[in-house]
Amino acid sequence: MASEAGKAPAIPGRRVLMFPLPFQGHLSPMLQLAAVLHARGLRVTIFHAAFNAPDSVAGYRFVPVGAGVPAADLVPTGSDADFVGALLRFNERLQGAFQNSLREVLEEEEGARPACLVLDSNLRGMQVVADRLGVPTLVLRTGGAACLVAYMAFPALCDKGLLPLQDHAQLNMPLDDLQPLQLGDMVFSTTTPHETMSNCLERIMESARYSSGVIINTFSELEGADLQKIIHGLGVPVYAVGPLHKISPSAQSSLLDADKTCLNWLDKQEAKSVLFLSIGSLASMTQEELVETAWGLANSCMPFLWVIRPNSVQCSGKVGLPEGFEEVTRGRGMVVSWAPQQEVLGHQAVGGFWTHNGWNSTLESICEGVPMICRPHFADQMINARYVQEVWKVGFELEGKLERGKIERSVRKLFCHEEGGEMRWRAKDLEDKATECMKKGGSSETRINLLVNFMMSLPCSI
Ligand code: UDP
Repeated sequence: MASEAGKAPAIPGRRVLMFPLPFQGHLSPMLQLAAVLHARGLRVTIFHAAFNAPDSVAGYRFVPVGAGVPAADLVPTGSDADFVGALLRFNERLQGAFQNSLREVLEEEEGARPACLVLDSNLRGMQVVADRLGVPTLVLRTGGAACLVAYMAFPALCDKGLLPLQDHAQLNMPLDDLQPLQLGDMVFSTTTPHETMSNCLERIMESARYSSGVIINTFSELEGADLQKIIHGLGVPVYAVGPLHKISPSAQSSLLDADKTCLNWLDKQEAKSVLFLSIGSLASMTQEELVETAWGLANSCMPFLWVIRPNSVQCSGKVGLPEGFEEVTRGRGMVVSWAPQQEVLGHQAVGGFWTHNGWNSTLESICEGVPMICRPHFADQMINARYVQEVWKVGFELEGKLERGKIERSVRKLFCHEEGGEMRWRAKDLEDKATECMKKGGSSETRINLLVNFMMSLPCSI
C-alpha cells in the first residue's frame, strides 16, 4: 500500500481523479500510477466499480460507483468468456451513476480543483461524462505500445478485407506494416462477433484521440519504435512511464489473496532452477490441457511453482490434477491458487516463466530478467508473445495443441539448452534497461516529471 511517508508536499489544491477498470491487470497499474502521482504531491480520488472494490490506501479518497447495479455479466472469467461485451456493458451501465458521483465529488471538493481525470482506455463512456462536466481526461493504456499500434491499424485491415478472418490458412500471414505481427495476432477474440470487436477498438481509439494525453505502462528502451508510431498517429501527447510496478512496488491491490508460503518453498530451491506457471487473472484452460501440462511438468524433471486459480479450468468446479501427479512431483513442485507474482518472479530460484503474456505479466518477467514460455490466449496476449519471441528474443511460443511431450521439450529447451541460456542473457539485458529508465534522468523518470507538469497546466473548466 502507498504510504504518506516520503512523498512530496501536496501541490495546493490540485487533485487527480482516476477511474480504473475492475480487472486485476487494469486495476494494479492504475493504483501504481496513483502512487507515482501522490508521491509527487497530487491528491488522489479513485472512482471504482462498487462490485469490485480495491483495498483502500491511506491518504486517497475512494468513491464507489454503481452500487446495486447488476454486475454478474460485467466481470466474466475464462478464455471463452465475452470480455468485449462486458466492457461495452460496463460503460453503458455505469455511465449514469458515474455522472452523479463525479458531479457530487466536484461540488464537494471545490477547494481541491481536479487537474484531470485519468481513466482506463476502455472507459470511453466515462470520458464523455467528464467532457460534459468540463474535466480534462488522460487515458491510461495498461497494455504495451505495440498493442496500441495494432489497434490503430485494425480498421485498415478491415478495409483491405483481411479482417474478419476469411480463411484459417491466413492466420500466419505476415503483416508488412506491423512487423513482426501476423494476421492471427489481430484476431483478439474468437468468441466476440467482429462488429462488437470493431466497436470496442473504435471506442478505445476515440478515448485516446479525444483525451488530453495518453499514458502507457511501458518504457522507450523497450518499445521505442512503436511509441514513435503512436506519437505520430494520435496527435496527443504520449507518456511512456513504465514499468509502473517497479516504480511504485508497494502499490498493488490484489483482488485475490496470495499464498506467500510459496516464497518459503522457493527459498529452498536452487538458483534459477524453478519454472513459474501462471495464466493471469482471467484466462483458463480445459481439463485436458491441465492434465497434459501436469504430465509435461512431471516428465521434465524440473522444479515448478504452478498457479491454478479456482476458476481457471473450464467447465469444472473442482480442479482435477491427474492421479499420481502429486506423488511423482512431491518436493519438486508446488501448486497454489494465487501467488505473489512479482515477488516470485524476482526470487533468485525462478529461472523461467510459463505465461499467458498478459501485458503486466510480460513486463514483470522482463523487469526481473526471467525468460518466458509463451502460451497466449486472447486480446493483446498474442501480440505480446510475438514480441517476446521475435523482437526481444527472451522467450518462445509453445504453439498448437498442448501435449505432454511438447511441454517437456519446451521446459528443457528453456532450462537446459544453449538457446534458453541466450534468452536468459538477453532478458538480463532488458532488466538492466528497465532499471536504468527509472533512475533520475532516465526515460521514464523524465516522462513522469513531464506528465505531472502537463497535468498541472491543464485548464479545468468547472
Ligand atoms: N498475478 C498475481 N498472482 C498470480 C497471478 C497473477 O499477482 O498468481 C498478477 C500479476 O502479477 C499481474 C496480474 O495479476 O500483475 C495479471 O495481469 P496480466 O496483465 O498479466 O494478465 P490478465 O490477468 O489481465 O489477463
